[in-house]
Amino acid sequence: MRWTERQTAMLHEMGIRLWSPQPGPHGADDSTPLPPAERGVGAADAALRSGGPAPVVAGPVVASLGDVAALGWNDLRDAVVACTACGLCKGRRQTVFGVGHRRAHWMIVGEAPGEQEDIQGEPFVGKSGQLLDNMLRAVGLGRNEPQHVDADAAAARQVYIANTIKCRPPGNRNPEPDELARCEPFLIRQLQLVRPKIILAMGRFAVQSLLRSSEPIGRLRGRVHQYQGIPLIVTYHPAYLLRNPEDKAKAWDDLCLAAAAARGA
Ligand code: URA
Repeated sequence: MRWTERQTAMLHEMGIRLWSPQPGPHGADDSTPLPPAERGVGAADAALRSGGPAPVVAGPVVASLGDVAALGWNDLRDAVVACTACGLCKGRRQTVFGVGHRRAHWMIVGEAPGEQEDIQGEPFVGKSGQLLDNMLRAVGLGRNEPQHVDADAAAARQVYIANTIKCRPPGNRNPEPDELARCEPFLIRQLQLVRPKIILAMGRFAVQSLLRSSEPIGRLRGRVHQYQGIPLIVTYHPAYLLRNPEDKAKAWDDLCLAAAAARGA
């Protein structure tokens, strides 16, 4: 949404900050905006604003889906770096955008950066990340560029990892509904740009964002869901698995189901 100067002044008076995309220093990049029918932004936008089971927005969604939906990779990253749409920007050392292959077949969606991620600027680099890397390695996947393979093989073997929230919540508390809502356009756009063959949603906040469901993970896992026509598998968050190692076998089953769904896509 574009605001007029007068509206901007009014919102400013009401204490509502506006985010608007700045042209990045990199200019055009390698991503072509998808046509509206493929974007799915309208549906997500409607769900976001309808106050469905997940994020309830207290004020306007400052990072507008319409604006973010046109951004390529470099401008999207710049927009995340510049974002002040919620209070999390005040406590962050840096934003945590995402990592991996920009056309990966697998996209992994987690929750929010922790302390190590806030320091290093990369998702899942702490203890949960070590477990995630081990789990991915077990099914022949990784986040780093494999050596000596062609482009297709790299996209098949290297994942893309992003969080629902790009800034660390203080003290690693759970993200608030309005923080999830304000950050959501960035994740939606990352999903549109990667266009994965399979999405692995880890933990309840990823599930809330992508499936609009507040059902427990235990009830949602074990079957193939859909996000905008992309198969989506629900699984436990690695931090949960560190606390409940007896459920690692179920997470392994989830990875195998995701691998099968990706092959069938
Ligand atoms: N947990 C997450 O969900 N994401 C991270 O980046 C780190 C821990």
